[in-house]
Amino acid sequence: MKRYLIIGNGIAGTTAAEEIRRHDTEGEIFLITKESLPLYSRIRLPDFLCGKIGEKELIIKNQEWHDKHNIKLIHSVEIEKIDFLEKKVFSKKSNKIDKIKNSVKEDSISQDIDVFEFDSLLLAVGSKSFIPPVKGNEFGSVFSLRTIDDAKLIIKRLQIDNAKVDNPKDRDQIKATQTPNDNQGIAIDNPKEVVVIGGGLLGLEAAAAMIHAGIKVTVVEFCDRLLPRQLDYQGAKLLQIFLEKIGVIFRLGEGTEEILGKISERGAKLATVIKGLKLKPQVKGVKLKSGDIIKADAVLFSAGVRPDLSLMPDQSTTDLDIQFNACAMTNKSISVNKGVVVNERMETSIPSIYAAGDVAEYDGVNLCIWQEAMEQGRVAGMNMAGKDAAYKNVPPSNILKVAGIAVASAGEIDVEGKMESEIVSTESIYKKLVKDENGKIVGCIMVGDTSDFNKIVKQMRGEV
Ligand SMILES: Cc1cc2nc3c(=O)[nH]c(=O)nc-3n(C[C@H](O)[C@H](O)[C@H](O)COP(=O)(O)OP(=O)(O)OC[C@H]3O[C@@H](n4cnc5c(N)ncnc54)[C@H](O)[C@@H]3O)c2cc1C
Repeated sequence: MKRYLIIGNGIAGTTAAEEIRRHDTEGEIFLITKESLPLYSRIRLPDFLCGKIGEKELIIKNQEWHDKHNIKLIHSVEIEKIDFLEKKVFSKKSNKIDKIKNSVKEDSISQDIDVFEFDSLLLAVGSKSFIPPVKGNEFGSVFSLRTIDDAKLIIKRLQIDNAKVDNPKDRDQIKATQTPNDNQGIAIDNPKEVVVIGGGLLGLEAAAAMIHAGIKVTVVEFCDRLLPRQLDYQGAKLLQIFLEKIGVIFRLGEGTEEILGKISERGAKLATVIKGLKLKPQVKGVKLKSGDIIKADAVLFSAGVRPDLSLMPDQSTTDLDIQFNACAMTNKSISVNKGVVVNERMETSIPSIYAAGDVAEYDGVNLCIWQEAMEQGRVAGMNMAGKDAAYKNVPPSNILKVAGIAVASAGEIDVEGKMESEIVSTESIYKKLVKDENGKIVGCIMVGDTSDFNKIVKQMRGEV
């Protein structure tokens, strides 16, 4: 019986597990995640942030689904080291793993460490928010939004009262996100204004969510238009007008010079009673490259993501290295560029080790989008289970709803206007179909109405 181990239960890892089970009804499938939930929608985190939906509605595959498919989901366990050659992973000792001891071959080298052996491994560890090296980026009340814990921390610190975290369990979890030794967990005094750095997809969604929660939001974007990867000037302008109507303020074509901070009154008071409390300055404003200063109580970085390579050799040194120096030394041969390099079967440079989703790089491409992660997970799962599947790059496509405004784009968007295109432009809608020299649709932009989007993407892929 084959043992499959998947690190990461996002859409790539969970899709792979489902696919493996489809083709191998006998094998043991372990899905390990450092997060506390089964697969949930990161895309809907902004809706959770502003209280439109609760935690339950974020969940895509619940525990029952895992039980039904005999996929062993182990949550709240962080893998800290991988020995690719000996086919073992290591984590800090946890009672979660003890519970399934009987079903896991465990070779206890040390009392403090759990060791898993595997036959085939999928790295589906996703990506991390990129925090640009701006002065002040380490201050308290500087956030990014990647996980449900990030969202809960923001809710707590910005005191977003309408967020649906009313049940005691959720409240406890929010408390658990506090950092006991510093003032990071303390609610900000009267938070009213937030600066979002980055006018990309995630930044705009988060900005709209915070406006919905009653916070004043300014978006600072380096580029001179919104969603530069998805929209041309005309489409971006229409979206900007829509968002300005709901209250978002934009500073386009602007860089961030520095985040300004001060020790909050509440933090200073607490420091007098809590021994050893490390105080971090709280944000009080953002200084732009132009010299302008925007008043702010918090900053949300939304400056893109980077594949999470912390498990790759040479990327990290953990306590486990000290105990497992020998194993750390043997793992030099996995090929890593911006992401973990894979072939069309999602195989890495080491046999039986696969990678999929935001962490993987295929053919020099790593879009870090949902559709790509899901398709790569499917291909990896099939191949791990002994089938033969090949991945084809998905055309970059995104559908998003910012404050109810439907926006979508796919493929070539022809920002320069050099190609043939069909354009429909009204006060509330902008649609552009970009065509190649043979009249084939190779890209599209839709703002205000995305009802044709799936049909157009299928046409682009030659599926209709
Ligand atoms: C707020 C937000 C909005 C988004 N909106 C869109 C959108 O509109 N459209 C779109 O296409 N994409 C969107 N995305 C991107 C999309 O969500 C990602 O591309 C997708 O979730 C990637 O899936 P993944 O499975 O590769 O990684 P992830 O979903 O990041 O999952 C990786 C998992 O691995 C776990 N993990 C990592 N390291 C370890 C370890 N050492 N031990 C154990 N577990 C570990 C992590 O905890 C995580 O659960 C959005 C993302 C965010 C955050």
